[in-house]
Amino acid sequence: MSAPLLELRGLAKHYPLKGGRVVRAVDGVDVALHPGESLGLVGESGCGKSTVARLALRLIPPSAGAILFQGRDISGLSDSALRPLRRDMQLIFQNPHAALNPRRTVFASVAEPLVVQGVAGRDGVLARVGDLLRQVGLPDSFLWRYPHELSGGQKQRVCIARALALEPKLLALDEPTSALDVSVQAQILEFLQELRSRSGLAYLFISHNLAVVRQVCDRVAVMYLGRVVEEGPVEAIFTAPRHPYTRALIAAVLPPRPAGMPEAPLAGDVPNAAEIPPGCRFAPRCPIRMDRCTRDDPALAGTDHRAACWAASEA
Ligand code: ADP
Ligand code: MG
Repeated sequence: MSAPLLELRGLAKHYPLKGGRVVRAVDGVDVALHPGESLGLVGESGCGKSTVARLALRLIPPSAGAILFQGRDISGLSDSALRPLRRDMQLIFQNPHAALNPRRTVFASVAEPLVVQGVAGRDGVLARVGDLLRQVGLPDSFLWRYPHELSGGQKQRVCIARALALEPKLLALDEPTSALDVSVQAQILEFLQELRSRSGLAYLFISHNLAVVRQVCDRVAVMYLGRVVEEGPVEAIFTAPRHPYTRALIAAVLPPRPAGMPEAPLAGDVPNAAEIPPGCRFAPRCPIRMDRCTRDDPALAGTDHRAACWAASEA
């Protein structure tokens, strides 16, 4: 297999609070993303997905761990050293309404990164913006429209056109369809799949919605309280999930439930990231909790705990 485009190693982001407590937003994440691949990050709200994306693109610095982009550790680079890399890594936000300046035409928004990077001549920019719009499925007649004249799905397409302007290698998409109507969501997901197969872009695709991830991703990493609890090819995770958290998540979204899947939906809420429970982080909500789970963490190497957990989960 090709070398990873992006590799996160032992990545952590801790936010100290007054009084000595610490929010462990991301707390030791290891994942790799290869060129052209689509990796999903799923998990309930607050588990650290957006923070992983912002770290991966070095919009914020990590507290610990390494971020390797094309094999180079970018975790400690200064803003000026990061600048040439910025065009390779683009972020698409959940809310396209907030991402576009209401006083700028579609042309002005999409042209901005081209102008900043000094693409020559107004005619060149105009032709390039028209081409970018066509790539996201919008006709030239949209060039002179303002955001208020666009639907949510059209705005998200404009945001994607702007992100594509500098021909990035990696697109991080943070809940890109969650703010859209259900009917529009399907169109945007289909478009994103088609864009990836045509462009060879890699996606770091964030969603709390497993069904969405199944449609768009090759692999998926399931996050819980700042850590990845299980990772694998999307179909393997969907048809044979092993971690009790993954199993509960899938049971909650996917009728019919795969054989042996728990009946009960996930009970309770995710604990506060400033009060991470001892032992296994999922233990307080786990339907198959064992005594040892509140003492040792099955995610740590060198114990048989994980094997025991997954065996009990599949029994
Ligand atoms: P997700 O995207 O999965 O919903 P986030 O990455 O946004 O999760 O947040 C993970 C955890 O980190 C949450 O508990 C959130 O409140 C906390 N958090 C995120 N950003 C900050 C910050 N700047 N300061 C303090 N806590 C933060
Ligand atoms: Mg988020």
